[in-house]
Amino acid sequence: MDRTVGQLSPDSCIFCAIVAGQAPAVVVYEDAHTMAFMDINPATRGHVLVIPKKHARDIFDVDEEEALHVMRTVVRVAKAIDKALQPDGVNLIQANRRAAFQSVYHFHIHVIPRWWDDGLVPIWRHQREDPQVLREVAAKIREAIG
Ligand code: AMP
Ligand code: ZN
Repeated sequence: MDRTVGQLSPDSCIFCAIVAGQAPAVVVYEDAHTMAFMDINPATRGHVLVIPKKHARDIFDVDEEEALHVMRTVVRVAKAIDKALQPDGVNLIQANRRAAFQSVYHFHIHVIPRWWDDGLVPIWRHQREDPQVLREVAAKIREAIG
């Protein structure tokens, strides 16, 4: 199956261009490690993207330290959205690889304000799973974490 990782080089990365000031963005927050700016095609009004300034392709490529900085900014942005726009809820969404709908290959977290009538739909259906399968899958993941 297609596990394409997309652009590998920061040279051709639109979010790196935004960090460098070479592409426009409507910025809401910036610090030494992170930037937060408005999504150009928002899912709802107030949809913000939070990125590390240092290029990382996706969750598999990002340093844990950089991810910590990103998460700190995500918390700040979510609280600011809640205060400023008073949504009914907020989703954090983060995509890795094409199969998961990643389209920009610079790690980012979507902070999306939600309203009861915003028309968005859940991205998964809850399904019953055999408890034995749960245990087998968990064992594989535990072993991989090390
Ligand atoms: P994803 O599909 O999770 O990779 O999300 C990429 C997001 O980046 C999409 O929601 C796009 O609308 C957004 N996007 C793409 N280019 C830009 C840009 N130049 N400025 C702001 N947002 C962008
Ligand atoms: Zn980049």
